[in-house]
Amino acid sequence: MDLFNFIAGKLHCEEVSVAKIAEEVGTPFYLYSANTLKRHISAFNNALSSLDHLVCFAVKANSNLQVLNIVGKQGAGADIVSGGELFRALKAGIPAEKIVYSGVGKTKPEISQALEAGILMFNMESLEEMEAICSVAANLGKKAQVSFRVNPDVDPKTHPYISTGLKKNKFGLPIVEALEAYKEAVQRNELEVVGISCHIGSQITELSPFVDALKRVLRVADALKKEGVGIKYIDIGGGVGIRYKDETPPTPEEYGKAIADILAGTDFTVIVEPGRAIAGNAGILVTRLIYTKETPEKTFYIVDAAMNDLARPSLYKAYHEIVAVEERDVPWKAVDVVGPICETGDFLARDRELPQMEPGDLLAVKSAGAYGFTMSSNYNSRPRPPEVVVSGNDFWIARKRETYEDLVRGETIREIA
Ligand SMILES: *Cc1c(COP(=O)(O)O)cnc(C)c1O
Repeated sequence: MDLFNFIAGKLHCEEVSVAKIAEEVGTPFYLYSANTLKRHISAFNNALSSLDHLVCFAVKANSNLQVLNIVGKQGAGADIVSGGELFRALKAGIPAEKIVYSGVGKTKPEISQALEAGILMFNMESLEEMEAICSVAANLGKKAQVSFRVNPDVDPKTHPYISTGLKKNKFGLPIVEALEAYKEAVQRNELEVVGISCHIGSQITELSPFVDALKRVLRVADALKKEGVGIKYIDIGGGVGIRYKDETPPTPEEYGKAIADILAGTDFTVIVEPGRAIAGNAGILVTRLIYTKETPEKTFYIVDAAMNDLARPSLYKAYHEIVAVEERDVPWKAVDVVGPICETGDFLARDRELPQMEPGDLLAVKSAGAYGFTMSSNYNSRPRPPEVVVSGNDFWIARKRETYEDLVRGETIREIA
């Protein structure tokens, strides 16, 4: 459920007309619905209410401070993968005790930053990382709360670039090595072993991979218990898919029920790390048609947003629904929606049926709230677009459009002979 609807033929975000926002802030821009974000966090909380649980929003999906603040106020913690994300999560008011830190390449300065902050748990991805955490913790005179991220070797049946829980992937510890690794970890004075975690991939549209992974992880947790290693947290990662086109991903309710069925009667606290399922359908990218261009082969809608603003179509051939912001009674035809960037891969949609439009008309690229702005770049020296938030009948700019000065910040020229 999202809150982008047509009212009298005009696209609205909650109660605000998208065209009105475009008038004020210019195009392109990202637009997020605060109440959609809130609903999505609540849906996960409700679905897991029979268990001790914590929803840790995956910051890499959308790291805007206002977005993090909204999900944090709704009770969510954060799943971070870098020192920069830790900085953002804390700045947005998410308490350190609700932050889990994932990722295969945590550096010592990042580990130190997270230990000083007092995060809930490091999800360690290798014994080498464990050594690094021990050495930083010893230097700081602190104890690190840790889990191992295990690789359960289940196929999430999603795009290969976003599969992470297969044996051949770089993530996590092979599940067969987990027991030995935990035996080492519990002997370290610098560590407090508190959890076990996994994350098998993204945009997963079936329940069975989650169920299989959780069962495998639970088996390890039970084996650890027999060895006298008590674990409090079972972190099953993120990955719940959303509808971009015609997918039918599990709802938070179905997902929560499947987890609760498996964990009922245990005393684990379950952690989930949804990113896309919280933010994806809470955001759109609004863009304006610059030119229509007819070639003998095709019609192109050349718009002012591009692959630097939204990388997913170019990167994964991802499908994003595109709609005209104002409904009109005109003929439709198949067009390619492309940006101004000098790459053939710069497209937002190909062979898409859209109404006939004129330069100046607005289009909305839907389901762009996750892995949209966070994957944006300045390629072709394009300032990144602003991020606007709507709540009810109110809207505000949560991140300003970049300026040309922003583009060259930190650059210097040395005159050379
Ligand atoms: C990316 C990621 C997530 C979030 O994935 P979604 O598919 O957006 O839910 C959660 N946990 C970890 C460790 C991740 O790398």
